[in-house]
Amino acid sequence: MTAPGTWQPGGHPADVNAILTSGLACACHYAAVRPDCQALASIRYGQIALCARCDQRRSSLGKGTPPIRLPDPHVLLEVAAARDACQHAAAALRRAVTHARGAGHSWNAVAAILGVTRQAAQQRFAHDATPKIHDHLT
Ligand SMILES: [Zn+2]
Repeated sequence: MTAPGTWQPGGHPADVNAILTSGLACACHYAAVRPDCQALASIRYGQIALCARCDQRRSSLGKGTPPIRLPDPHVLLEVAAARDACQHAAAALRRAVTHARGAGHSWNAVAAILGVTRQAAQQRFAHDATPKIHDHLT
C-alpha cells in the first residue's frame, strides 16, 4: 500500500508520468492512492498539492491554509498531444513521399507539392524513400 504524497511512476498515462518524472508539475497528494486522481496538481495548500478532482473532494485537508493556484499542468498535456500529432503527420508525410517516388514521380514534383526546392526535398526524404546505401538522388 502506498501512502498519500509518495507518488511513484506508473498507473497514469505516459505523458502524465513524463511530466511528473521531469518535475514540470507537482504530483497530487493522492496520485498514488486514488484511481480517479488526475495526478497533476493544480493547486497547493501549504505543502499539500492537489489535482482539480481531489481539490473538489477536499474536506478538512489544508483547511485554514490559503490555496496557491499552480499553472494548469494539463495544458502541458495539450502540448504533448500536439507534439504526437506532429510526429504522426511527419510519418504520414514520409510515407506519402515514399509512395510518390515509388509511383514514379520526380523529386521536382514532390518538391513542388511541398513548396520547397528539389534539393531540400531530397535532403529531407531521400534517405527514407529508398533503402539503398548510396542513392544517387535521381
Ligand atoms: Zn488528485
